[in-house]
Amino acid sequence: MCQRKAAGTLWLTCGHFQRHMVTAVYDCMSVKCEQSYVHPKDCRSRECIRVYGPDVQDIIDRVNDKCLQCQWQEQKAAQAQNKS
Ligand SMILES: [Zn+2]
Ligand SMILES: [Zn+2]
Ligand SMILES: [Zn+2]
Repeated sequence: MCQRKAAGTLWLTCGHFQRHMVTAVYDCMSVKCEQSYVHPKDCRSRECIRVYGPDVQDIIDRVNDKCLQCQWQEQKAAQAQNKS
């Protein structure tokens, strides 16, 4: 299956990769992959792969912290604890 190369930030504390943008697409050149350039447009097969494979991570910067989503979840958990 095809894969996308994504530029992004690696958050070192939680290990999450935050994608900023897709910079390239690697075409697998398979007629059974709907994302591929060689896949026939009128193909009606249900066997074909529709999704991209895992992103090829192009790490443009590393931050020694948790990602915003993890920070947010931690805040929410702390707030829930305060209420009880
Ligand atoms: Zn493909
Ligand atoms: Zn197909
Ligand atoms: Zn995270």
